[in-house]
Amino acid sequence: MKIVDEVKIKNQGYQNELREKRIALNQVKAVILGCRVDILDTTQCLDKIAELISARTTAHVITLNAEIVYQAQNNPVLMDIINQAALVTPDGIGIVWGGRQLGYAIPERVSGIDLLWGICQTAPAKEWKIYLLGSSPGVADEAAGRLKAQFPGLSICGSHHGYFQAEDEPSIIADINRSQADILVVSLGAPKQEIWISKHKKDLAAPVCIGVGGSLDVIAGHKKRAPDWMIKTNLEWLYRLLAEPSRWRRQLALPKFVLLIFKSKFNRIFKHN
Ligand code: UDP
Repeated sequence: MKIVDEVKIKNQGYQNELREKRIALNQVKAVILGCRVDILDTTQCLDKIAELISARTTAHVITLNAEIVYQAQNNPVLMDIINQAALVTPDGIGIVWGGRQLGYAIPERVSGIDLLWGICQTAPAKEWKIYLLGSSPGVADEAAGRLKAQFPGLSICGSHHGYFQAEDEPSIIADINRSQADILVVSLGAPKQEIWISKHKKDLAAPVCIGVGGSLDVIAGHKKRAPDWMIKTNLEWLYRLLAEPSRWRRQLALPKFVLLIFKSKFNRIFKHN
């Protein structure tokens, strides 16, 4: 049996156990170091996004990772942005692990790129229009071309690169609104994209705005995603570190996040005894 199949079977059993625990405890939200995370799997997150599009108010979707949670510890504005979002998904194994350490039945990782694929799969049938904002000049257009080739009938109603000045923002926002996008995909890196969406939410007409980090680079073929076996064995963070060693400084947040989770876990145990 291949390692990937073994991991799949093991995960399936664990998923069933977690589903039962979630239902038994009626858990819908986790609070990890002060940051709210919705306890939903990928399919449920996609259903929630469809609901938010139907509601037609501007909703912010955040795919949360451990690095952002660590930054939020010293940045109350960022923590507030996270806690005000309409949907916060557990992106990154750090959040899944940390949440489970604190007793939450987090079912699985729900990453920005997986949500984007899921949205693009559903979009043609639902006639959703997608606007891509971010990455280096040309990348969003290349990503749009690849997405349209992959999902026939997909409507990418506009795109703009992510290296703009503050004075360009009104015309970019006007272009997004003119395009009548249902989903604004923002790829400025975390937490810049979260801060940008939150700052401009009141002026944006798109019902869903979602930050997806470096996903457009991956879709355009400029960066590779980790091989499947690394994703399935929760080693994507290691792949990213090896592929982009300059990330080491950012990833220093991970061991500090782990320590804070243990501290929070022990505080909870002692408070409850
Ligand atoms: N980026 C951008 N404008 C900026 C800074 C970054 O458009 O001012 C883009 C960058 O080109 C890349 C993405 O944001 O496509 C960040 O990718 P990264 O993998 O670092 O993001 P993460 O997934 O770690 O949040």
